[in-house]
Amino acid sequence: MLNDRGHNNLWLRTSRENDDHSALNRDETADVAIIGAGYTGLSTALHLAERGLKPVVVEAAGIGHGGSGRNVGLVNAGMWVKPMDLIETQGEEWGHRLISALGDGPRLVFDLIERFDMACEPLQNGTLHLAVGDKGLSELRDRETQWQALGAPVNLLDAGETASLTGTNAFPGALHDARAGTVQPLAYARGLARAATEAGAQIFTHSPATRVEKRNGQWRVQTPGGVVKATWLVVATNAYADPAQPGLLAAPMQELTILPFFQFATAPLPEDIARRILPERHGCWDTRMILTSLRRDQDNRLIFGSVGSLEMWSDAAQQAFARRTLKQLFPFLGEISFEAKWQGQIGMTKSHLPRFHMFAEKAIGVCGFNGRGIAPGTVFGKQMAAYIAGGEELALPLTPVEPAGLARQRTLFYRLGSCAAHLVSARG
Ligand SMILES: Cc1cc2nc3c(=O)[nH]c(=O)nc-3n(C[C@H](O)[C@H](O)[C@H](O)COP(=O)(O)OP(=O)(O)OC[C@H]3O[C@@H](n4cnc5c(N)ncnc54)[C@H](O)[C@@H]3O)c2cc1C
Repeated sequence: MLNDRGHNNLWLRTSRENDDHSALNRDETADVAIIGAGYTGLSTALHLAERGLKPVVVEAAGIGHGGSGRNVGLVNAGMWVKPMDLIETQGEEWGHRLISALGDGPRLVFDLIERFDMACEPLQNGTLHLAVGDKGLSELRDRETQWQALGAPVNLLDAGETASLTGTNAFPGALHDARAGTVQPLAYARGLARAATEAGAQIFTHSPATRVEKRNGQWRVQTPGGVVKATWLVVATNAYADPAQPGLLAAPMQELTILPFFQFATAPLPEDIARRILPERHGCWDTRMILTSLRRDQDNRLIFGSVGSLEMWSDAAQQAFARRTLKQLFPFLGEISFEAKWQGQIGMTKSHLPRFHMFAEKAIGVCGFNGRGIAPGTVFGKQMAAYIAGGEELALPLTPVEPAGLARQRTLFYRLGSCAAHLVSARG
């Protein structure tokens, strides 16, 4: 189910965690019905079950079918928005609360991985934000100053240090964030599902919620095989909700602009070549507006990603772009063959920050991770569990859905703009 037509997701092939859940085929009663089995829904379920409540998750396809099974695997410690900008727009109290919750996000992720012994290639040795040109370098200098003022272990590396950690001279510097790291993203989602089940949650895959309504004070989530009745409802569908669905099932999509992002994975590289590229296996992305990402998996595949949709251009042009970019970075790579390519949808918001929603009484959700959802989805899932079980505060206020006026046009702009940029670049 994870493979869209013509796409071949590496994470599905290499996950050492399984998805052995099945479809709902009866009616169920729960304390909390959760729609969507990505990091957000699964972390909510795990933490609710650990607090003694009964959560039931329904997922339209398989575990991690959405962004959680398709992403780059960078476990970041913040959002795109620079920390001081965040404090400026959200105010001192909310800004600091969000920065602190997300700063601790990677620790929560890696602790859960260790506690439940998840086989998801965890590596917490920091990430590298790579500077492109002088503009990129000064952008990173600013980020370093802001993070250091908050006491975060974030340091700007010079060109030599960057070259020795990446294997290329292409970048004049890189920002190293020691809090961050990488995982095999789908395996982490499946690991969370296993942990939630062990804690007492029930998870049903291939069970799309087709209708949601409240009757006699109880939420009723209809799926083809049965109904889940619950006191609370959590909508955790992010950028994978179907905009054509009725009512609050489609609500998150009204305010998201969809940014497509694709990835290519090479065949495993010979050991002598692999050792010269990202020798400490850091996960990286760069400062370009149409950014690229780079990492190496456990089996020495080089994984390269960029903004864009694979549906908009030919297979030959895509491969030319990916080959050319990798060759420019690592001229010693030799013949490059690709083993996998896949893509996903990133849900962007106007503020570039996620948004918590109170859809109705006892119906909440969060969406719009803006490409930063591994740690934030895990953190916010835990927070939603604490909100439901104990009335604890969230990291951001609960707001109504604000339809993004030109979301569709912006989505089209991203798809066309990134495609044009890649085609130009592929021709060289
Ligand atoms: C290509 C790509 C690269 C990214 N790279 C990174 C990265 O390196 N680091 C990072 O931190 N973040 C990254 N992100 C963002 C991150 O993957 C997401 O923010 C995160 O996965 C969101 O998790 P979620 O649980 O909220 O939503 P999702 O994982 O999208 O899960 C939503 C689920 O809801 C299900 N669903 C939808 N409608 C229904 C319905 N009616 N009934 C039942 N189920 C339904 C979907 O099938 C889906 O499984 C990336 C995203 C993409 C797409």
